[in-house]
Amino acid sequence: MNLHEYQARVLLRAAGIPVPDGDVADTPGQVEAIAKRLGRPVVIKAQVHAGGRGKAGGVKLAKAPAEARARAEEILGMSIKGLRVNRVLVVPAADIASESYLGIIVDRESQRLVVMVSPAGGVDIEEVAAKTPERIFRVVVDPRYGLLPHQAVGLGVALYDRLEQARAAADIMTKLYRVFLDTGASLVEINPLITTPSGEVVALDAKLAVDDNELERRPEIAALRDSRAEAPSEVRAREAGLTYIKLDGNVGCCVNGAGLAMATMDLVQYYGGEPANFLDIGGSSNPQKVVDALGIITSDPNVQSILFNIFGGITRCDDVANGIVTATHQLTLKLPLVIRLTGTNEELAVRILKDAGFSALTDMDEAVQRAVERAKGAR
Ligand code: GDP
Ligand code: MN
Repeated sequence: MNLHEYQARVLLRAAGIPVPDGDVADTPGQVEAIAKRLGRPVVIKAQVHAGGRGKAGGVKLAKAPAEARARAEEILGMSIKGLRVNRVLVVPAADIASESYLGIIVDRESQRLVVMVSPAGGVDIEEVAAKTPERIFRVVVDPRYGLLPHQAVGLGVALYDRLEQARAAADIMTKLYRVFLDTGASLVEINPLITTPSGEVVALDAKLAVDDNELERRPEIAALRDSRAEAPSEVRAREAGLTYIKLDGNVGCCVNGAGLAMATMDLVQYYGGEPANFLDIGGSSNPQKVVDALGIITSDPNVQSILFNIFGGITRCDDVANGIVTATHQLTLKLPLVIRLTGTNEELAVRILKDAGFSALTDMDEAVQRAVERAKGAR
């Protein structure tokens, strides 16, 4: 789950990280009032779950309240990477002497948290990693000891020549590490971490993604979810108890089990196709889940064919077959459907599908190849 910048900065500030003042607004009138109250030039920032808002025109400077209102009129309602801006953050404009990057990520290779900094901040860190990887500095954190003072200061020195700034940055890193653990985060980024002309180190942006599996024991974080700001299909899937991630391809995938879903996506690519989604219907025996899954997959206009890949264990193939039949009664399905079922109650499932006019395969390669061909229009 992603937090908005205005939510993340509250958590950062509570942890003692220097964050500018500011307030959120849903209307240009509110923006004008906040700018008036702050009594100085402001920056108006779109609150959407997307990076690169600056480049997209979602971060704008305004010198006076009337100008703030005008900029807010432009930003509110605009769309950034397909997400509509419903809310903005208004902060006093900061004077920037330098922009750095600070982030904490989960590193797959070391299977640990890695604190990452770069003096090349303010821009896409992926771009820095690709073009000038020598400008990124990182330390691996041993969970037994946490982020050690010498590690944090070492990174601080990589950012700043002045020792008091290096120390201030190290202090921010230590606090950010605490925030990461306390919120159940999977990613925290401050980009840019700035220095002001008077020498202070300040967090000017905040990005925080929380691991969904951590939400159950952190109701106060779970309450920050803004469903309005998420892709509608993902909201619908979550409410139906399905794990769904929309992708850019055209082969809709409906699979049971995350591992099989990953393998299926790999095989779709292997045979020259592109998966339209990741979808795990889970291990339960519930035909309704199949109905929900088909509804979500077919709501994506890119989908050209649908591939079912079911390995029946706890999931019974006949339940999935019944779900498919029920779903095709409820939705008029115009897309080619390729079904592969194997395992528990497979014979029964094949009979149910045959009676309803579908055919089913048992070979995974054959099914994936066929789904890819159908998506390309070779019926
Ligand atoms: P992002 O593009 O979505 O990451 O949004 P950011 O909050 O990082 O803003 C993008 C860029 O706008 C920053 O890297 C800064 O260069 C600039 N910016 C943001 N806030 C301020 C501010 O208060 N003063 C100045 N001078 N520039 C700002
Ligand atoms: Mn940023």
